[in-house]
Amino acid sequence: MASPAWHYVLKFIITGDAAVGKSSLLVRLTDQRFLANPDPTLGVEFGSKLITLPDAEGTVVKLQCWDTAGTESFRSITRSYYRGAAGCLLVYDITSRRSFDNVRTWLADVRAHADAHVSCILVGNKSDLCEGEEARERAVPTEVAEQFAKEEGLLFTEASARSGAGVEDAFIRAATEVLSKV
Ligand code: GDP
Repeated sequence: MASPAWHYVLKFIITGDAAVGKSSLLVRLTDQRFLANPDPTLGVEFGSKLITLPDAEGTVVKLQCWDTAGTESFRSITRSYYRGAAGCLLVYDITSRRSFDNVRTWLADVRAHADAHVSCILVGNKSDLCEGEEARERAVPTEVAEQFAKEEGLLFTEASARSGAGVEDAFIRAATEVLSKV
C-alpha cells in the first residue's frame, strides 16, 4: 500500500499586533515569497503546507494555518479561530517594543480561548532589519524575549519573513512539540 501523503493534520494560528508580519510569515511558509507592500485589507487568511519533521521517521505534517487577516485591530477574533488549534505563533516585530509588550495580551487571549495543550512559539519577526550595514536599532533584545518565553513556557525564535530565515523552522519546532504530546 502506498504511504499516505501526510501523517498528521495540524491547525496552526498566527497572532500578534497588526503589521508585525503575520500574513508575510504565512505567505513565506506556503509560497516562498515576500510581498514588500501587501494590501492590509486583503490579509491572507489561510494557507496549507506539508512539512517534514527532522525526526527518525521523517513524519510529514500537513499544517493548516490561519492568520487573523486584519481583524486584530478590532479585537473581534472569535472562538472558532482558536478552536482546535494545535499550534500558535505569537508574533512581534523586533523593532517595535510595543508589539512585544502586547504579546502578553495575545497570550492571555490564546490561553482563554484555545485548547489548554496548544503549543506556542514566540516569534520575533523582521530580524533582517537588524542585520547588515544599514541595520536599524533593535527594540527588543533577544535575551529579553528569550527570558519571557522561558517564564511563560513558550518556544522562542527570531525570524524574517523577508529573507525566509527561521520561518519554516518556527513551524517545525512548534509542530514537533505538538506531536511530542500525542
Ligand atoms: P500583519 O498585519 O501582521 O499580517 O503584517 P504584514 O504581513 O501585512 O506585514 C506588515 C508590513 O511589514 C509589510 O509592509 C511587510 O512587507 C513588512 N514585513 C513583514 N515581515 C517582514 C520582515 O520579515 N522583514 C521586513 N523588513 N519587513 C517585513
